[in-house]
Amino acid sequence: MNIHFTPEEQAFRQEVQAFLRSNLPDDLARKVRLGRRLAKSDHQRWQKILSQQGWYAVNWPVEHGGTGWSVVQKHIFDEECAAAGAPRIVSFGVNMVAPVIIRFGTPAQKDYYLPRILSGEDWWCQGYSEPGAGSDLASLKTRAHRDGDHYVVNGQKTWTTLGQHANRIFCLVRTDPGAKKQEGISFLLIDMDTPGITVRPIITLDGEHEVNEVFFDNVRVPVENLVGEENRGWTCAKYLLTHERTGQAGIGLSKAALEQLKRIAMAETVRGRPLIEDPMFRARIAEVEMRLMAVEMSTLRILAATRDGGVPGAESSLLKIQGSEIRQAITNLMRKALGPNALPFLEHELEPDFDGDPLYQDYSAAPASQYFNMRKLSIYGGSNEIQKNIIAKMVLEL
Ligand SMILES: Cc1cc2nc3c(=O)[nH]c(=O)nc-3n(C[C@H](O)[C@H](O)[C@H](O)COP(=O)(O)OP(=O)(O)OC[C@H]3O[C@@H](n4cnc5c(N)ncnc54)[C@H](O)[C@@H]3O)c2cc1C
Repeated sequence: MNIHFTPEEQAFRQEVQAFLRSNLPDDLARKVRLGRRLAKSDHQRWQKILSQQGWYAVNWPVEHGGTGWSVVQKHIFDEECAAAGAPRIVSFGVNMVAPVIIRFGTPAQKDYYLPRILSGEDWWCQGYSEPGAGSDLASLKTRAHRDGDHYVVNGQKTWTTLGQHANRIFCLVRTDPGAKKQEGISFLLIDMDTPGITVRPIITLDGEHEVNEVFFDNVRVPVENLVGEENRGWTCAKYLLTHERTGQAGIGLSKAALEQLKRIAMAETVRGRPLIEDPMFRARIAEVEMRLMAVEMSTLRILAATRDGGVPGAESSLLKIQGSEIRQAITNLMRKALGPNALPFLEHELEPDFDGDPLYQDYSAAPASQYFNMRKLSIYGGSNEIQKNIIAKMVLEL
């Protein structure tokens, strides 16, 4: 196993760096670096730039407009984008529903939906979780019954990320309440403009409107919006989750956050000296940096195995736990580095177009809200406790 990058991979890294230098708008990178809110238009702008370069659909096969990149190239691309301060890709369309449509969709579904995802015409959200069906997703109750050439959908989804921007939602619905839990579920594509859909915001600890509840009241969905076979939606659901969990360690994002932490610790002072020279604080930064290096090495080992034909198994659970804990530890240290200056929560300083004088420093507005926001990392995408169960079963054989 060789965990070093090949000369071709190193050349690819340089190509990505050059592209980012010439194409990533400065104002977008600045917003990302300062932890400002990103508007829908910010995401769309960056997505369009990537699409024009042919680098938006990194997980798609070439024949559908994808890059055809190897896992190592995708890793390099993610790392360089995070280092340059590029906006995170909103995955629901391009990296979640699209692979399902490519694998299980009809030719008509592929022809209609895939180009709309590539062009940014459609913004998708994910309708999996429900009150009472999160970790135990197969318990979901949202019901769809057949009425002629339509399904009629009733129920509720929750935690629907950025559903307020979406014009489409992919949903797991129960089509056979009499079957075993996993066997009576179907995968439906639903237009958010359909009468009977209500989106209600959930405001999180950091004051953000990132997630929503979505209610379905006799929503009529054409049967041609079913993906795969009726009652076989669990297969699509699991396939999608393997794509959702890819790259969850977020190495590039943690590296960029660590750099920001160091910048803050250099600028802040304690007893007249830069905080980064304080032995206690320095040791805490070093500890988190070593954990990050270790998880990066593990990622490279797994990538090397995948490059040699292997399939990642319980290792992705390990990376998810480590990656999310590291990111949370970094945001915690940023908050500590700022001390009382992390406390004021001034929403207007996080607005995308804020250009006034910050209350303290331009880097001090975001860390407190990021600290709260990053709590989500150990919950979504399969909570860390569930990942530990997977490791216990698959690795420790308990
Ligand atoms: C910010 C955010 C965004 C999200 N976005 C989306 C989205 O866009 N679309 C979507 O469908 N969902 C989304 N989710 C939902 C997410 O997938 C669920 O929150 C997650 O699956 C956990 O489910 P739950 O919240 O119902 O908690 P529960 O499953 O009720 O779990 C509660 C606690 O019990 C623990 N637990 C549960 N079962 C076990 C077990 N068997 N063994 C050990 N511990 C266990 C969990 O780890 C957790 O700590 C989002 C969640 C968050 C926080």
